[in-house]
Amino acid sequence: MPLVSTRQLLDEAAKGGYGVGAFNVNDMEQIQAIMEAAKETNSPVIIQASRGARAFAQDNYLYHLMLAAAELYPQIPLSMHLDHGNSFETCESAIKLGFTSVMMDGSLKPDGKTPATFEENVEVTRKVVDYAHERGISVEGEIGVLGGIEDGHGAGGSGLEHVTDPDQAVEFAELTGVDSLAIAIGTSHGAYKFSKKPDGSVLKMDLLIAIHKRLPKTHLVMHGSSSVPKDLQDIINQYGGKLKETWGVPVEEIQLGIKNGVRKVNVDTDNRLAITGAIRKVFAESPEKFDPRDYMKPARAAMQKVVALRMTQFGQAGHAGDYKAISIADMAKGYANGSLSTKPLVAAK
Ligand SMILES: [Zn+2]
Repeated sequence: MPLVSTRQLLDEAAKGGYGVGAFNVNDMEQIQAIMEAAKETNSPVIIQASRGARAFAQDNYLYHLMLAAAELYPQIPLSMHLDHGNSFETCESAIKLGFTSVMMDGSLKPDGKTPATFEENVEVTRKVVDYAHERGISVEGEIGVLGGIEDGHGAGGSGLEHVTDPDQAVEFAELTGVDSLAIAIGTSHGAYKFSKKPDGSVLKMDLLIAIHKRLPKTHLVMHGSSSVPKDLQDIINQYGGKLKETWGVPVEEIQLGIKNGVRKVNVDTDNRLAITGAIRKVFAESPEKFDPRDYMKPARAAMQKVVALRMTQFGQAGHAGDYKAISIADMAKGYANGSLSTKPLVAAK
């Protein structure tokens, strides 16, 4: 299947009542791990690359690896998403390269650190939406500010400093026409999300439910949604790592989100942990080994296991064959003729 639009994947997920994991990649082995997990579980999938990943791998390598994935797994609906675009220019360059969806994170200024005003966020996001929709590419916006920092992106601090205001979420969706919306409900990027198992005082699922009630047709996106399972932390520490004790977002909370409008779930940290644990194990147990395949193979297998589990938990497993790809050119027509419009957005009271 050619690369498809993330909007199509999320529309189908809404019809089917499930969520789709969006897994970050930087290299070939991670793409291979995700595609094998998608094949194993028969799942549609979103692969995403951050600005940091694009700088690490270089755009052309990433794009051609994604094309290889689409060629090798014609049965899997697959989209290529830009994670946390910081400016119009970053989104434009991703679209020109061939990404089939972009995130314009206008919640921060272009430095990727300083919170932006509501008006600044609307202005830059609207500009990206106009440019992207004309080309059949879907756009994710962000309202509220996530906590933590990853790949040099983020305001830092706890996830509770700038949680999303439901009224502003409605206004933002109306003014920008985004296809999906990332909201801040207390989660953070990176491994250190919570200092204890999160409850309602730090993870605001009630807020997510309130936003979904107001915006029932807008696909919600949960960022910073690795679960940071203890067994993956333990493997790293057992083989010489020094991770401090930490908690992520419990899978049952993500599943509650999926019941309430969450269609895209971003996962990066769990895969990083799986890879690092597997590599550390080989180094510790077989220090005589020096062929990179000896540790990259178990690392890839460990990531595949985590991704396949998440695909099953998010409910996307079994849905790869539900639909045929809509071409990006036809998506552009749909935006132009209004058939992809989500308006009116707001539920009748
Ligand atoms: Zn994020």
